[in-house]
Amino acid sequence: MGAELLRLSHRKERDKRLTTHIFLSCRILGIYNIYYTGDKDEKLEKNINKVEKNWGKCLNVQHIKKPLKLIEEKKKEGYTIVHLTMYGIPYKQKINEIKKLKNILIIIGSEKVPSEIYKLSDYNISIGNQPHSELTALVILSYELNNCKLKECSVKSLYRIIPQEKGKKVVRNDK
Ligand code: SAM
Repeated sequence: MGAELLRLSHRKERDKRLTTHIFLSCRILGIYNIYYTGDKDEKLEKNINKVEKNWGKCLNVQHIKKPLKLIEEKKKEGYTIVHLTMYGIPYKQKINEIKKLKNILIIIGSEKVPSEIYKLSDYNISIGNQPHSELTALVILSYELNNCKLKECSVKSLYRIIPQEKGKKVVRNDK
């Protein structure tokens, strides 16, 4: 199953760290196509590119202005839309159905999500029915969809970590 992400309503100042963490987390979840709405944030995109320069380029991050148009296009292409919201159906009830799908677009919000998103989504899914964080919701859903495995970005990178019991060991791949 292939997954893409739509992150709604990024706010340049308030969400700068959280959105960065969401996008970087996508690198270990196998979600490489990312769309975001709200403020276009060149600094955020630059930071992501900087990390990917060292650790491998997997992400394709695009700022878009019309999320509903994207959703409609994706649906036409055969994608199933999975919106994460605390108001949705508990994920355990739907996870096996969603696992069988070929391509999904996962939607996460920040501030209030417009009601059209709930209507256009094929699944409105909750990770517990209390408010927490879009990052937590995304990671738990994706990790379950990946059968509790990481799907780490594994393209050629400049650096590689040699895991250590204690301390840090980072080597360059070109030396
Ligand atoms: N009122 C929001 C909601 O519908 O879930 C909570 C706002 S929260 C600050 C921002 C985003 O985190 C939401 O748009 C949703 O994608 C995600 N989120 C927060 N709690 C969640 C939960 N319990 N289950 C699924 N997603 C959640």
